[in-house]
Amino acid sequence: MAKKVLIIGAGGVGHVVAHKCAQASETFGDIVLASRTESRCRLIADDVSRRLGRSIKTATVNADDEASLISLIEREQPDLLIHVALPYQDLVIMNACIKTRTHYLDTANFEPRDTAKFEYVPQWKLAGEFEKAGVMALLGSGFDPGVTNVYTAWAAKHCLDTIEYLDIVDVNGGNHGQPFATNFNPEINIREVTAPCRHWEDGAFVETPALSMHMPFECPEDVGTYEIYRLYHEEMESLVRNFPGIRRAQFWMSFSQNYLKHLEVLQNVGMTRIDPVSYNGMEIVPLQFLKAVLPEPSSLGPLTRGQTCIGIIARGKRNGVDKSIYIYNICSHEDAFSEVGSQAISYTTGVPAMLGAKMMLDGKWMKPGVFNMENFDPDPFMDEIGRFGLPWKLQDPARVRDSF
Ligand code: NDP
Repeated sequence: MAKKVLIIGAGGVGHVVAHKCAQASETFGDIVLASRTESRCRLIADDVSRRLGRSIKTATVNADDEASLISLIEREQPDLLIHVALPYQDLVIMNACIKTRTHYLDTANFEPRDTAKFEYVPQWKLAGEFEKAGVMALLGSGFDPGVTNVYTAWAAKHCLDTIEYLDIVDVNGGNHGQPFATNFNPEINIREVTAPCRHWEDGAFVETPALSMHMPFECPEDVGTYEIYRLYHEEMESLVRNFPGIRRAQFWMSFSQNYLKHLEVLQNVGMTRIDPVSYNGMEIVPLQFLKAVLPEPSSLGPLTRGQTCIGIIARGKRNGVDKSIYIYNICSHEDAFSEVGSQAISYTTGVPAMLGAKMMLDGKWMKPGVFNMENFDPDPFMDEIGRFGLPWKLQDPARVRDSF
C-alpha cells in the first residue's frame, strides 16, 4: 500500500525529490512539501502537477524549531520524513522524528553553524533512541554521500574480497556560463571546499591544506579530462568504519580555474568568513550575505550544459590477486532539466534521496536504528537506480588508472 511522505526543504534538491516521489506513485501515495518559504513549495507543487498530474500538499515550517516541526508531523502523520533543508537542522529534525516515531532520511551529515566541520558522530549517537522508538534513520542518501557508499558496498559484495584503496571522484563537467555560482547551497558548498583537506591513511585522518593536492582525471566516454582536487568529504567517515580494511580513502572533486580564482579572491577579502561581523549597527555573517547575492542554484537549471561523472575507484584483492574497479554514473545537465526542470547536481542528489526512501518504505532496507547506506544490501538499490534516471557502469578493470 502506498505511503505518505513529508519532504522538508524546497530548494534545488527538494524540487527533484518532489518530482521523483511523484513519479514513484506505487510507493509514495501522499506527498507533503514543507519549507521555510511556502511560496517555493507552491512553485514546485505547480510544476509537479503540470508535468505529472499529481497534487502535492504544501506547508510552512521552521525546521530549526522542534515544536513547530512536531506539530506539522502530528498534523500530517507521514510514514517517513525526507530532510533536504540544510545540515544545520539534522539533529532537530531527528529528535522530532524520535518523538513522533517517524522514519527519517537525509542527504548531508550534521554541521554546526558556527564551525565549518561536519560529522556523523552526533547523529550516530541517536541510534539507541531511534531503536527505542522503533523507527529508522538513513543518513546521507544523496549521490556523494549516498550512491558512492552503495557503489562501495556493491564492490565489496561482488568484486573484491578486500578494499584497500578507495578513491571517490566527483567531476562536474557542466558549464552554467555564470562568472561565479555554486551548484548547490552556496554556504554549504563554500564551507566544504575551503575547509582543510582530510584523507584516511593507515588508520587515521591526515590533514593537509585545502585544495593543495590535485591532478588531471580522464573521465570515461565523452565527458573529457578535468583537474580534480582532494578534499574532505563526509562519506569517508562512515566508509572507513564499515570497511576497516581500507588503508587509504580519498575524495576528489573537479573545479574550474575560474571557480578557484573567484573563491581565492572571496577568501582574501573575508567574504567566506562564518563568524559575525558588525555592519551598520547589525551583525551579519559574510558567507550568508554572499549566499544572498549569488545566483540561486535552482536558477542554473536552464543555463547548465554538459555532464557530471561521479564514481568510485576501489582497489584491493580478489582471490589473492590485485584487482581494481571503477563504478560510475554519467548524468547530463540538459536531460535532467528537460525531465524535472533541474540541473544535474540537484538531480543526482534528489534521485537517491527518493530511492533511499523507497527502499525503506518498500521494506527492503528497514530496521530500527541509525544507518548509513553501506549498512544495507546494495543489490536492490543498484537494481532500481537506473530506471529512476541514474544508470551505472562498471569500467573494464584493465583500464582503471593506477595514478592515485
Ligand atoms: P538549497 O539552499 O537550494 O535549499 C535548501 C532549502 O531548505 C531552501 O528551500 C530553504 O528555505 C530550506 N530551509 C533552510 N533552512 C530552513 C529551515 N530552518 N526550516 C525550513 N526550511 C529551511 O539547498 P540544496 O537543495 O542545494 O541542498 C539541500 C541539501 O542537500 C543540503 O543539506 C545539501 O548539503 C544537500 N546536498 C547533498 C548532496 C549529496 O550528494 N549528498 C549534494 C548536494 C546537496 P528558504 O527557501 O526559505 O531559504
